Amino acid sequence: MELTMKICSQCILPDTFPGISLNADGLCSHCQQFVRKKGRLADTKREYEQRFHELVNQVVHQPGRAGQRTYDVLMAYSGGKDSTYTMSLLRNKYKLRVLAMSLDNGFVSPAAITNIKNVTDNLGIDFVFFKPRWDLLKKIFSTAAVQELYAKKTLERASTICTSCIGLVKSLCLKMAVEQDIPMIAFGWSPGQAPVEASIMKNNPSLVRVAQQAILGPLREVAGGEIEAYFLNERHYANPELFPYNVHPMAWEFYNEEMIIRDIQKFGWVSPKDTDSNSSNCLLNAYANDLHVKRYHFHPYVWEIANMVREGVMTREEGYQKIYAKQDDNLVCAAQERLAR
Ligand SMILES: [Zn+2]
Repeated sequence: MELTMKICSQCILPDTFPGISLNADGLCSHCQQFVRKKGRLADTKREYEQRFHELVNQVVHQPGRAGQRTYDVLMAYSGGKDSTYTMSLLRNKYKLRVLAMSLDNGFVSPAAITNIKNVTDNLGIDFVFFKPRWDLLKKIFSTAAVQELYAKKTLERASTICTSCIGLVKSLCLKMAVEQDIPMIAFGWSPGQAPVEASIMKNNPSLVRVAQQAILGPLREVAGGEIEAYFLNERHYANPELFPYNVHPMAWEFYNEEMIIRDIQKFGWVSPKDTDSNSSNCLLNAYANDLHVKRYHFHPYVWEIANMVREGVMTREEGYQKIYAKQDDNLVCAAQERLAR
C-alpha cells in the first residue's frame, strides 16, 4: 500500500480511516479512548467466560430438549486458524457435540480443504460442506468487485466481497441451527473482530429479519430471487424458540497467534502457503482487499488488526506487516481472472 497517509503511532489505524483523528503525538482517537477502558477488559472477559459455562450447562442439560438433540453447537468453520482453534476448544475444553459447517465459495484454498478434513477427523467432528451455485456466487462477487452493495458502516470492517460471503455463512448457519434444533452457533471471531460484550448473544427473530434483509436485499438485486434459498423464510421465523445463541469464545480466551498455530498443529492443521497474510483459507481475499484499498484508501482488515495491537494480543510490528507489507500480485490476478472467465 502507498504510505502517503499518517498512521497511528500505537495501533496502526491510518488517518484515511472514517471518522478518525490523530493528535499531536500521532495517537489516534480510538487509542486515546482505549486508555480509559483498558483496566476493565480482564474482568469483562472472566465474566463472559463464566456466562458461557452457565449457557453450556443450560443447553446441555435442558430438560426434555437436550436428549433429543444430536449436536450442542454448530461451528461456522472456515478451516482458518481462528475457527480451527475455537472448534478445538468447544470439543476438548468444553466437551460439546459439535457439527462443523463450511461454505465453499469457490475460492477455498486446497491447503485449507486438507486442513478441514484432517482437523474434523482428528477432533472427531461431523462436517458439512455447503457449496452454493457457482453462477450465483460469480454474479455476486463480480458485481461486488465494481460496485458498492452495503451500508457505509459495514465497509469499515470488511470488503464488499467479504461481507457478502460472511452474510451467506451467517444465514446458512442460522437456517441449519433452527432446522436441526442446535442451540448454539460458534464463530471464530478474533478478539479484534468483535468485542467481548457481544460474545454471547441470543438470536432475536426481529433483529435477524432486519440483518438478513440488509444482505438479502442487495444480493437479490444482483443475483435474482433464487438467492432467497440461502436465507430464512417464514417457516423459520414461526419457531422463535428454536433460534440459537451466537457465541465467539476467543473473545474471552487467551489469544496469541503463534500459540494458536502451535496448538492446532496437533490436530493436523498446517499453515497454508497459498493465501495472503490476512487469511488462512480464502483465495479471493487478496483481490477483495486490493479493491477495497483502491476504493477507500484503507485496508479492510485494519480495524481488526488495530484492535488486537491496541489490546496487546499482537505486536505493532506484526500488525503493521499484515496490513502494510506488499501483497502477492499473483493472488490478486488469479482471483480476478477466475471471476472474469
Ligand atoms: Zn490508534
